[in-house]
Amino acid sequence: MALTLTRMTSGATPMMAQYLALREEAGDCLLFYRMGDFFELFFEDAKRASQILDIALTTRGEHQGAPIPMCGVPVHSAESYLARLIKAGCRVAIAEQTETPAQAKKRGGSKALVARDIVRFVTAGTLTEEALLEPRRANVLAAACEVRGTVGIAACDISTGRMELEECAAERLGAALARLGASELVVPEGWELAPDETIARSGHEFSSEGGEERLKAIHGVATLDGFGSFTRPMLAAAGGLIAYLDHVGRGALPLLLPPEARSGEAALAMDEATRASLEILESSQGGRKGSLIDAVDRCVTGAGARQLADDLSAPLTDRNAIAERLELVEWLHDDALLREDLRSALRALPDVGRALGRVVAGRGSPRDLGQLRDGLSGAREIGARLGERDALPGLLERLLPDLGGHGELVDHFARALVASPPTERGQGGYIAEGYDAALDELRVTSGNARRAIAALEAKYRDETGVAALKIKHNNVLGYFIEVPSRHADKLMEADSGFSHRQTMAGAMRFNALALHEEASRITEAGAHAFAAEEAHFEELVAGAVASRHQIAKTAAALARIDVAAGQAERAAEGGWTRPEVVDATCLEIEGGRHPVVEAALAVQGERFVANDCRLGTHDRLWLIGGPNMGGKSTFLRQNALIVLLAQAGGFVPAAAARIGKVDRLFSRVGASDNLARGRSTFMVEMVETAAILAQATDRSFVILDEVGRGTSTYDGLALAWAVAEAVHETNRCRCLFATHYHELARLAETCEALSLHHVRAREWKGDLVLLHELADGPADRSYGLAVARLAGVPPKVISRAKSVLEKLEKGRAETGGLAAGLGELPLFAAAQDHREEQCDTLRDKLRDMDVDAMSPRDALEVLYDLKREAGTET
Ligand code: ATP
Repeated sequence: MALTLTRMTSGATPMMAQYLALREEAGDCLLFYRMGDFFELFFEDAKRASQILDIALTTRGEHQGAPIPMCGVPVHSAESYLARLIKAGCRVAIAEQTETPAQAKKRGGSKALVARDIVRFVTAGTLTEEALLEPRRANVLAAACEVRGTVGIAACDISTGRMELEECAAERLGAALARLGASELVVPEGWELAPDETIARSGHEFSSEGGEERLKAIHGVATLDGFGSFTRPMLAAAGGLIAYLDHVGRGALPLLLPPEARSGEAALAMDEATRASLEILESSQGGRKGSLIDAVDRCVTGAGARQLADDLSAPLTDRNAIAERLELVEWLHDDALLREDLRSALRALPDVGRALGRVVAGRGSPRDLGQLRDGLSGAREIGARLGERDALPGLLERLLPDLGGHGELVDHFARALVASPPTERGQGGYIAEGYDAALDELRVTSGNARRAIAALEAKYRDETGVAALKIKHNNVLGYFIEVPSRHADKLMEADSGFSHRQTMAGAMRFNALALHEEASRITEAGAHAFAAEEAHFEELVAGAVASRHQIAKTAAALARIDVAAGQAERAAEGGWTRPEVVDATCLEIEGGRHPVVEAALAVQGERFVANDCRLGTHDRLWLIGGPNMGGKSTFLRQNALIVLLAQAGGFVPAAAARIGKVDRLFSRVGASDNLARGRSTFMVEMVETAAILAQATDRSFVILDEVGRGTSTYDGLALAWAVAEAVHETNRCRCLFATHYHELARLAETCEALSLHHVRAREWKGDLVLLHELADGPADRSYGLAVARLAGVPPKVISRAKSVLEKLEKGRAETGGLAAGLGELPLFAAAQDHREEQCDTLRDKLRDMDVDAMSPRDALEVLYDLKREAGTET
């Protein structure tokens, strides 16, 4: 690269040399090179950006004999272009002019090049701009590394400053990252475990000592103990994360709140496949529509929606913590008036957390300060109104102090700022009247001068007799007098008091002493006023920065209340109930519904059929059969979602629910290809099934949908059989197992905690009627051909399939059926294991025997021994 650069810079213009040096520094980012009112891109950057942004690709000058490709975006609308580039997976380095052209001239003469420097890297994980962020989604930047076999993960959302540290075993890395859903992941160079699409940084940035020191320095503490206990891997990841933030911000750190240690135990564990199949935050088509959160979210603030997403991504396992959330939801559920009142107050509030993020990152605007003022004063009012109530739920009582406590800051901001401060600082005008007497004076002066200029216009008209005379203003000339050319003679006279400035087509422009004096007064007062406002701005920002931790707490309290009110609203809307979360390993759901499917059916005017689920210690595995499209997958998922919603602390779509708290939730639904990762459908299915068998405990809840369907009938049946047995015998978890293999029904004969169920269907006048109703007992028959007919498979194909089926069934009846031999199978993996162990011992004994060295008597002894051992087995 250095070589290329030397080659490219030789003979380049000074500007090109400057550009190329910055280009080198920008690495794999696109370089936005500031030229006046535009950010320009050159060479390959220009080609790539013009394509993504669909803007014109032009050329400018030549480099080494070839025209230089160029495209550009106006600075004032750069944000929207940045948003599109980031979405397309680019990262952008912003090279600003770090001095004005006038300063450059002073420094190096008239030909001097304006100095430029990269002031910031804009990357997906380090955004703070309102326009670049989705209001209802957190934007997470994560770093991960490994210290002595344990993985450390640091994650932050710099738009609100939230930071958490976590450690996990190497094999849990995927699950942990899936929960975080980071927009960017930073890892040490050459790390073997690094997933695809990461940003590799030098390994020495991931040092636990360095990370600890930086955290202590950022938060001004001598020890991190007050924030929690952090392990070496966590601190090393924090080191990598902060080093990356230093890099992209060019040393200016964004808002970082004290880190929280997240323990894997505190959250319901779900792996990546489970999250994807339950479509928690995103549907399988991608996007929020059709996801669980879309069906649940009734939050009225962005911060609430972000908190809800976090809750659903990491449901709780602590019964008290769950009960605390549920109590608040219930309180708000039962009082519709209060709820409505609260929600409309919350709806009016700006996003305090994100405004704070921008202000602390040094990218705040007067409007952001206004948002802090309005948000914090709104929070105070909400707190006061809630405080008047008796018998508050415990969680609310704890949050209440966080809502108030900003009296001084709010009052200060209220006095200092105008009602609706602008997003731009450049024009001033955001400091309120009455806040600073000197500033008011300057404004009076410039107001007077403006009025004086208006009076001058009338005076000059009188004096010259030119009725068309006007005083105008532009950025180049400032104030000037303009008259049509045909009336200019009078003003051109030597003693007229007017001096000529410019001749236009049809008009002439003049200056006059009095006008010049008034204009100078305006300029001077303006400059002083601007400086005064800037100073006040800095002081207000400093006030917000000093209170950042308390402000962030207020934002978090508002979000938590919004989540609870939203859950209560959703429950009231859909007739949801408060679940009971208990310690027993049960799952008793009466009249359960699937929130997403129910909503989709409602749009078509159809009703969802509610179904019960009753799993317990003595009946923990349900095998569910029935026709395609009968509602098996829906039933499986709805129960998993109800567990998830309940443990996230919300009401559930059921008539009643008693849920033994779940430590891990697994979902293996449908056959999904992951060809992008080089795995076939069946391989994916087996990898996921293996993970479940290895990890599910007796406190876990597992849903398995048609395991084994991705291979041949016999292989599939054999695997489904063995998996069901293992789940029943070894994992002993609660499990719903949907299958098309009737043969599995025979498992009920030997597995005492397994029971058979089916979704009901009827064939009526040759048509299939799916009842979507769950019933006890095995499915009577399969309806595959009927469903195929329903789907429009041509009658000829259906009738051919019918005759093939008849042949198959006839053959099966003669040979005793597909599962004929299964009765003789050793039924449990455990029994099988035991027998194999015995064989191994026998084999070892025989191998170790030195027959030549044995006396006949010894040999007889050994034979007796062996027979005795074999006898224990028969
Ligand atoms: P397959 O065996 O083909 O995977 P399935 O038995 O798993 O089918 P689902 O995918 O759960 O069936 O359901 C198919 C469709 O039936 C759903 O998209 C929905 O429209 C409807 N459905 C499912 N359950 C219900 C229900 N309880 N009430 C009403 N409609 C339902």
